[in-house]
Amino acid sequence: MGEWGQIGPLHALFLDLAPGSSFKVGMSFVLEKPPVFAETPDSLAARLVAIGEKAFRAGQVFDWLYKKRVFAPADMKNLPVSLRTWLAGTFDFEPNQPVRESISGDETRKHLQRLRDGSLVETVLLSAPREAESEDGGADAEGRVPSGAGAVTGHSRRRLTVCLSTQVGCAMGCRFCASGLEGFSRNLSAGEIVGQLLSALSVAAREAAPKTARDVVSGAGSPPPAVPVLPDNIVVMGMGEPFANYDNLLAALRVFNAPWALGLGARRVTVSTCGLVPRILDFARESLGTRLAVSLHGATNAVREQIMPINKTWPLEKLLPACEVFSREHGRMLTLEYILIDGLNDSSGQALALAGIAARLHAHVNLIPCNPVPGLPWRRPPSARSARFFDILCHRNISATLRREKGAGIDAACGQLRRQHAA
Ligand code: SAH
Repeated sequence: MGEWGQIGPLHALFLDLAPGSSFKVGMSFVLEKPPVFAETPDSLAARLVAIGEKAFRAGQVFDWLYKKRVFAPADMKNLPVSLRTWLAGTFDFEPNQPVRESISGDETRKHLQRLRDGSLVETVLLSAPREAESEDGGADAEGRVPSGAGAVTGHSRRRLTVCLSTQVGCAMGCRFCASGLEGFSRNLSAGEIVGQLLSALSVAAREAAPKTARDVVSGAGSPPPAVPVLPDNIVVMGMGEPFANYDNLLAALRVFNAPWALGLGARRVTVSTCGLVPRILDFARESLGTRLAVSLHGATNAVREQIMPINKTWPLEKLLPACEVFSREHGRMLTLEYILIDGLNDSSGQALALAGIAARLHAHVNLIPCNPVPGLPWRRPPSARSARFFDILCHRNISATLRREKGAGIDAACGQLRRQHAA
């Protein structure tokens, strides 16, 4: 997890199973019931019709889930009791269980969530002053202003960004990253990705509610929030490589975007990739409107491949043309993320090469002083050196930000909280 407050802003695993049957999510784990959060109006309506129910009931179920954030079928009062019972027996309605939270002084909250098989994933909530982050007052492409954490209190001007994970662990092996240290376990299903967001939003709503309604850790027995929280932005930048879990990612992004679900404007969602070229090209063709961030971290192959093994498969001469295709198809600036690591990628030569790449791609550069990860040797450069790197970009008219890394105090770099919990 790095600097992700700045960038604002995404199916196919439709579990085609007979109600009540089991399905495989990961490599060896079998869930008893599929999460309801992977359903769409078409898929749920088809199941309802198959059991003799009316198709319109699907819309009522989604209304309870996404508009009212009521997750217990028993509480879905406008549904027949027999349908409530069927729903409860057929689908898993529990969003992921929050097990632990770290709060940092810089208003970064990191949540560890437990999935049904006991796997732990990390989700980060970042709250920032709205004025500092936006010139558009927070309105999306359609001119709507989502009800961020501020909507709960009615007057807050804070902007809520949620950072989501897509895998348990990661197989990409980036040298600076905590997520990959214990290897890759499994992909999250589409329903688990959506459930992760809903779980984080429930916690945010409880935190913003009067103290007596708070039950941050267990969530058990607490009343549903009076005003459901919507995030201003979602960044898919937590544990895992989203494009290595492409179909489930897209299914989740469509739920975020769909008017029958969360209705978040696609430009509020950013997906971050280490550079899986074929998927970047697929994503460009999807025309979801979702933003893209590319983790670059090295401006030449010689430096990048020391940090990111993926560069051996997809070196810059393949990655950069794919980024150009995405920008062209999408018509929007992409973001290049660049972690500054002392003595490794922070030279003037790298800054100049990065300026050349950013100019070619018309990309925004996000410079992130490296978060130290216990067990890894990397350190962030002295601040004067980071500032000089930033100045080189600015002098070449590159749109860039150099920010104090958020969440350093709570081990918010990708994968750190989970490692600590396991220790
Ligand atoms: N696999 C995806 C998403 C996970 S990493 C990708 O590679 O983009 C996403 C971001 O987390 C990285 O680009 C970086 O910005 C941040 N990050 C990970 N480890 C970090 C560390 N040790 N210090 C600072 N930022 C880190």
